[in-house]
Amino acid sequence: MLPIFSESELADIILKVEEGERLDFEAGVRLMTSNDILALGYMANIVRERKNGDKTYFIVNRHINHTNVCVNLCKFCAYGVKKEDPRAFTLSLQEVEEAAREVAGERISEIHIVGGLNSELPFEYYLEMLQRVKQILPEARIQAFTAVEIDYFTHTTGLTATEVLQELMRAGLDSLPGGGAEVFSSRVRAKICENKISGERWLEIHEAAHNLGMKTNGTILYAHIETPEERVDHLLRLRALQAKTGGFLAFVPFPFYPKNTKLEGSMGVESTTGFEDLRMLAVARILLDNFDHIKSFWMMLGPKLAQVSLAFGVDDLDGTVVEEKIIHAAGAETEQVMTKDALIKMIRKAGREPVERDTLYRVMQ
Ligand code: SF4
Repeated sequence: MLPIFSESELADIILKVEEGERLDFEAGVRLMTSNDILALGYMANIVRERKNGDKTYFIVNRHINHTNVCVNLCKFCAYGVKKEDPRAFTLSLQEVEEAAREVAGERISEIHIVGGLNSELPFEYYLEMLQRVKQILPEARIQAFTAVEIDYFTHTTGLTATEVLQELMRAGLDSLPGGGAEVFSSRVRAKICENKISGERWLEIHEAAHNLGMKTNGTILYAHIETPEERVDHLLRLRALQAKTGGFLAFVPFPFYPKNTKLEGSMGVESTTGFEDLRMLAVARILLDNFDHIKSFWMMLGPKLAQVSLAFGVDDLDGTVVEEKIIHAAGAETEQVMTKDALIKMIRKAGREPVERDTLYRVMQ
């Protein structure tokens, strides 16, 4: 252990991390409530470099948000609206095709599609959407639909989650992005998204996807009303499923943006600080010892903090994006696109090695 950490309140945990020991719930809560940010960064960096060295991944991708009409109307969400709302939109299949065509010449390796639960869209719309995108971008992998959407399709079709996933895979779906996990605690869900599927159902759907050979991501939406204990419980439940299936590619923490949501100005909810973002990323890296990758979206943290996060456990900055609507509806003031050269420069200036990846973390360049 570096001498500067010998007096740290986390010294005993640092020794365990150096030895590669798995941490339990109590240790997780101590990390999650510690202000010793340098000790957290030191530990997270050990795990990061053990798994990925200096490699820092990014992907050339495009987001398509096909509809914001949603029956759930979660309190934390500034994106989902009722179908009568003047802000409501739904892309026709033709418009989805146009969005895919816009990037057809750009060697895009992933298309990311998520949207609201729109009762007017039949399941066939989704199947055809996947088929058409695949036809235009045969090389790109399609990462689409949260577990919440998959569950919704089981209600509209009468199929099981496994059957829904099989149909979508046949139409071109390659992986699930991981949204909708929020915080698994039923107390939290009852307060911020009472209409949403339970944490148990989210885990069940990801397990079903893993059993079909599909890879998915784990996520958390943090910094609203959850306690440190609830955050740690969430992480350990993901770690347990990963131990069972090995199907998670990466873990992605999403900081909560309160602007334009029903939680804005209530329950003392405010935007996160940089300190809190780095602590969340570092603790995730330390606790999730069976996840290969921790991703921070530069678009959510802002490019500068995202760059610093590369010393706090993060080894993936996501991608070039292009037109993201969901977090920008909640007040994110970051750009919606970053060039590949700018991403590479940002990674190099942090002393790391940029690696362009595909969805499965295979090296493109
Ligand atoms: Fe709908 Fe998802 Fe927003 Fe909830 S978070 S309102 S399910 S779009």
